[in-house]
This record gives sequence, C-alpha cells and structure tokens, in this order.
Amino acid sequence: MARFRAVVISKAGDGPQEVAFSSLDDADLMEGDVTVQVERSTVNYKDGLAITGRAPVVRRFPMVPGVDAAGIVERSASSLFKAGDRVLLNGWGVGETHLGAYAERARWKSDWLLPLPAGFSADEAMAIGTAGYTAMLAVMALERHDIHAGSGPVLVTGAAGGVGSIAVALLGVLGYHVVASTGRAEEAGYLKELGAAEVIDRGSLSGPPKPLAKERFIGAIDAVGGTTLANVLSMIRYGGAVAACGMAGGLDLPGSVAPFILRGVALYGIDSVYAPKSVRLAAWERLDRDLDRARLASAMRRIPFEGVIDAARDIVDGKVRGRLVVEIG
Ligand code: NDP
Repeated sequence: MARFRAVVISKAGDGPQEVAFSSLDDADLMEGDVTVQVERSTVNYKDGLAITGRAPVVRRFPMVPGVDAAGIVERSASSLFKAGDRVLLNGWGVGETHLGAYAERARWKSDWLLPLPAGFSADEAMAIGTAGYTAMLAVMALERHDIHAGSGPVLVTGAAGGVGSIAVALLGVLGYHVVASTGRAEEAGYLKELGAAEVIDRGSLSGPPKPLAKERFIGAIDAVGGTTLANVLSMIRYGGAVAACGMAGGLDLPGSVAPFILRGVALYGIDSVYAPKSVRLAAWERLDRDLDRARLASAMRRIPFEGVIDAARDIVDGKVRGRLVVEIG
C-alpha cells in the first residue's frame, strides 16, 4: 500500500496539540466512497485556527487539517464520479471532523464533491476556495436584498484578507462603489487594483459602537465580527443590509437593536460549510461568470506543501494578503 504525506494534528489527553508532517497509508483514511489525489489546497482563517489550536475547530484527533481541495479521483464507488474526474471540495466538516485536504490522498463522500467547474484550473479554484465562495454567497445575499451597483456604497471589512479580497474583486467587477476597510494602509494600492473605490482605516470601525451612527453604506460584507460588525450595523443606511460571514475580530456582537428597529437594517448570516449543493453550484457558476481572472491572479500566491504550517500560523496573525494556493501534488 503506497504511503503518502499529510499534515497531522495530534493531541494526547488534555495536553497541547501537536502539528507535523507525517506519513500515512490508506488504512488511516476515514469512510467515504471516493478516493482523491489532492493536487491543490489553500489556507483559510479556519485552517489557521485548526493548526494553531486558537479555536476548537478540530473535533477529532488525529486530524488532517485543510477545508478545501482540488484534485483528481483515483477510485470511486459512487455513480457520481469516476477515476480521472477533476473534483472540488469546500467544507462539509472536512479538516474538522473528517480528515482533510493537507494530504496527498484523501477519502471523502461523493455528496461533498463538486465537479471542478470547467472555467477554473485547480489553482484558480483554490485561489477562490472557501473564502472566495463565501464572498460570493455574501454578494448573492446582498443582491437578494435588492442591493445592486448604483444602490450606494458597499463596505467590505477585513478587505486585504481572503474573503475580503475576493469580495472586493467581485463587487468591483459588478460595478459597485466598494469601500474597503483594512488595518494595512500599505495595501491600499492592491485593494484599489482589485476594485475598491475607497480604502478606509479599520480603526474607524473599532471604537465603542453607537446605537446609530451617520448613515454611510447601503450594504456591507463583514469578515471581522465583534465591535467592527456592531459599528458597521450602526452605519448602514435606511433599509440596507449586512452579510456577516466572519469572526477574525471576535465572535461577540456588542451592538444595539437600533439599526434593525429604527432603520429596517437586515443582518444576513452566511454559512459556507453546510450550504446545500444547489447553493454551492449557483455560487460557483456566478464565480465563473463574474470573477475577473486577472484580479484573482493578483490576489493569489502559491506556496509549497512544506510551507502550509507556517502559512496557517501567519493567517491568524493577520499577515496573509489575499489568497494562498498550496501545491500538494
Ligand atoms: P483572513 O485572515 O485572510 O482575513 C481576515 C482579515 O480580517 C485580515 O486579513 C484582516 O484584514 C482582518 N482582521 C484580522 N484580525 C482583525 C482584528 N482583530 N480586527 C479587525 N480586523 C481584523 O481570513 P479569511 O478571509 O480566510 O476569513 C475571514 C473570516 O471569515 C474568518 O473569521 C473566517 O473564519 C470567516 N469565514 C467564514 C466562512 C463562513 O462560512 N461563514 C467561510 C470562510 C471564512 P485587514 O488586514 O485588511 O484589516
């Protein structure tokens, strides 16, 4: 039986978790009807939380982290896929409860896999990854609220990060007036190239939130949560909406109900992990149609498989710009 390389998070009893490259074989894999040769993965904030143990993302030890994969089917007992098919996986608890993508080989349930969209290479699909597909879900939530290009300024928080970068690129191509909030002033040029009309300092969203502040944005995509989200809500124009998808700044929401009951503001929750297949297919179809490939390329950097543990530590420290593609096999 051929052995393969994987990143393994292990933990003995109540001790600290340990992370290292390890050699596994097929007997180590969990249940599933499709075996995949993983070609590419990526590094999302959640992968950083899993590898550093800063939040209880991993629910089973030992665990192979990695919530996103693009690869080639090696063996399939499912009628949905056959050997040689190119596939894509985002979420479904992979890297949390089921062995994930930071491995040269994986076994997953066919229901979790999508055919790799024809318009994307494995690199591009992982440059998008969960972060980008979540950004698309957030844009779609604003559209369902009838917020379109021309409705008014739309704010993106955590803009230089993964979700933020793809959200800025998507909204920019779609013609929105995008206001990008970042703590990294040096990334203003990058964000403007991606599609931001204005770049603001995230410090302007981090003070103690007022119940209502000046109405500035018709919509927002928030990857940060916490005080930032509370401030954002207080700045949304009458009838506007926020799509909340992240917690890079905190899990709490220390705000008031004033924006909801006095301005009719809506707060939409975005979950990518257990989104049904029909929603995923719609999001990937939209990404194929609307995401400018040159902007995607400018938000993406490739790293070798060996660099994934360090990159995961960097992302939770806010040091990663845009999206990383991990070259696995
Ligand atoms: P990144 O680390 O790439 O981006 C997060 C960005 O948030 C950072 O780059 C930084 O942007 C900003 N940020 C970080 N820390 C703070 C802080 N303390 N205060 C204010 N801003 C901060 O992560 P991802 O883009 O991969 O993920 C973003 C968030 O979205 C995460 O919380 C993640 O868990 C969540 N997520 C949720 C999904 C869902 O299904 N709901 C799916 C995917 C992600 P800048 O430097 O520009 O200020």
